[in-house]
Amino acid sequence: MKATIAVLSGDGIGPEVTGKAVEVLQKIASKFGHDFTFQEGLMGGIAIDQTGDPLPTETINMCEGSDAILLGAVGGPKWSDPTASVRPEQGLLKIRKHFELFANLRPVKSYPQLVEHAPLRPELLQGVDMLFVRELTGGIYFGPRQEQGDGDHAYDTLIYSRAEVERVATVAYRAAQGRRKKLTSIDKANVLASMRLWRRTVVDLHEDYNDVALDHILVDAATMYLMTRPASFDVIIADNMFGDILSDEASVLAGSLGMLPSASIGTSTFGLYEPIHGSAPDIAGQGKANPTAMILSAAMLLRYSLQLEEEAQAVESAVEQTLASGARTADIAPRGGAYISTTEFAQSVLNNL
Ligand code: NAD
Repeated sequence: MKATIAVLSGDGIGPEVTGKAVEVLQKIASKFGHDFTFQEGLMGGIAIDQTGDPLPTETINMCEGSDAILLGAVGGPKWSDPTASVRPEQGLLKIRKHFELFANLRPVKSYPQLVEHAPLRPELLQGVDMLFVRELTGGIYFGPRQEQGDGDHAYDTLIYSRAEVERVATVAYRAAQGRRKKLTSIDKANVLASMRLWRRTVVDLHEDYNDVALDHILVDAATMYLMTRPASFDVIIADNMFGDILSDEASVLAGSLGMLPSASIGTSTFGLYEPIHGSAPDIAGQGKANPTAMILSAAMLLRYSLQLEEEAQAVESAVEQTLASGARTADIAPRGGAYISTTEFAQSVLNNL
């Protein structure tokens, strides 16, 4: 297969981990006889420095001509002034909206090899394997807001339409059908009108997916259940803000932010693939970044955008073999234990491939 992949490495550890994911994709291409072309573009702080724009038109055009986007991470202290009119994170919201990538898929698994390292008791982590489906282009992050005015008042608006909820719920129901057939919808329907629309829409759509068991949990209770009975969840659907917060909370189940990939998809096979972590400026340039989240994001790219399931599984099992061999980056090493560098860890994944 021929495919063009846009690579936006971004800032901080972004380039360190993105480079490793590209090497993995190159290895997959040579092993399975594919022809992948990689095109690099600017995004985030580095794009602000070079062009004044966190997501230059040139980058958007390049992405439009590609089959999928691989994104590292953006941001860092250099560009973190909250009063600045241009910030790296604006590029993130803009690229998601531009390509109408309305569903963010975040799988969360606990790896038996890392259970001892996680902050939860090992018996709670047994069998944890869930998929978050987060709405990504609507809700309070995109609703009308006001922050100047008299300086003493500000507001953000949480708006959803039935169509917006339906399209992301469809992704979630279909994902559940391909897994353990259980969907949990998170909302705050006891207080918020927008969340009552959310619940009604998810319930109405259930008629088309009645082989999936559906339940609803209020977001405050969900924060607790994620820690007290994480193995009971299969697919979880949540709006933009609740999904953002809950999926980061769930990352502790995997042992480190450095373990969790994500895919942002829309109605076509085009998608954007990025780790859920940020640019980690505290460890940037030290060879300490865990490349797993980025490498597993590349596996999701193979699965969803290129429909190469066997290749995706080959990457995932190479990562598991690396973990099984005892290889650990600093974030997943036992306290005071030995760890290896980003490059050594990635090399082990390549060798296993
Ligand atoms: P972060 O995810 O960058 O880092 C949080 C902690 O996790 C840090 O201690 C970091 O060292 C560690 N960590 C993260 N990824 C790791 C990896 N792969 N391997 C090992 N350790 C890892 O979050 P933050 O510190 O809150 O944010 C830093 C910057 O990243 C900010 O500018 C923020 O806006 C930005 N950010 C960007 C994205 C994105 O690009 N999608 C997401 C979140 C945060």
